Amino acid sequence: MALRQIRVLGDDILRKKCRPINEITPNILELIDDMIETMHKADGVGLAAPQVGILRRLAVIDVGEGPVVIINPEILETKGSAITIEGCLSVPEESGYVDRPTYAKVKALNKDGEEVIIEGRGLFAKALCHEIDHLDGILYIDKIIPEDELEFEDEE
Ligand code: ZN
Repeated sequence: MALRQIRVLGDDILRKKCRPINEITPNILELIDDMIETMHKADGVGLAAPQVGILRRLAVIDVGEGPVVIINPEILETKGSAITIEGCLSVPEESGYVDRPTYAKVKALNKDGEEVIIEGRGLFAKALCHEIDHLDGILYIDKIIPEDELEFEDEE
């Protein structure tokens, strides 16, 4: 395993659309291991392939319950909405408020090439949406709600 360099804002690769993975080759498996190691080392909860310079539909997520690999993920269903602080390993030292679903149901392949249905709630739902956005060149900063437009319920 090896650490990969995390691309940061300003690198065009973060804005490109990723292609599906047709076959899970030894190179892809090595990439997955490297991405998990890189995510853990950077203390992140998720990392998408374009963030390490690979334009393939693959991401890894770990919200503290062990790594989850999603290959060619598709969001099947979302529920709820919550505005919470979000950050990204490709946008270091920054954060902002983003509105995300509180539940997400995703279809993907795991690293054995098996189709799996993943249901995420809370932080896991948010991470699924954030990482899948990366595969289409979308960053959370595109979705930031300016602080003066935030309406917190406890202020009503
Ligand atoms: Zn990110």
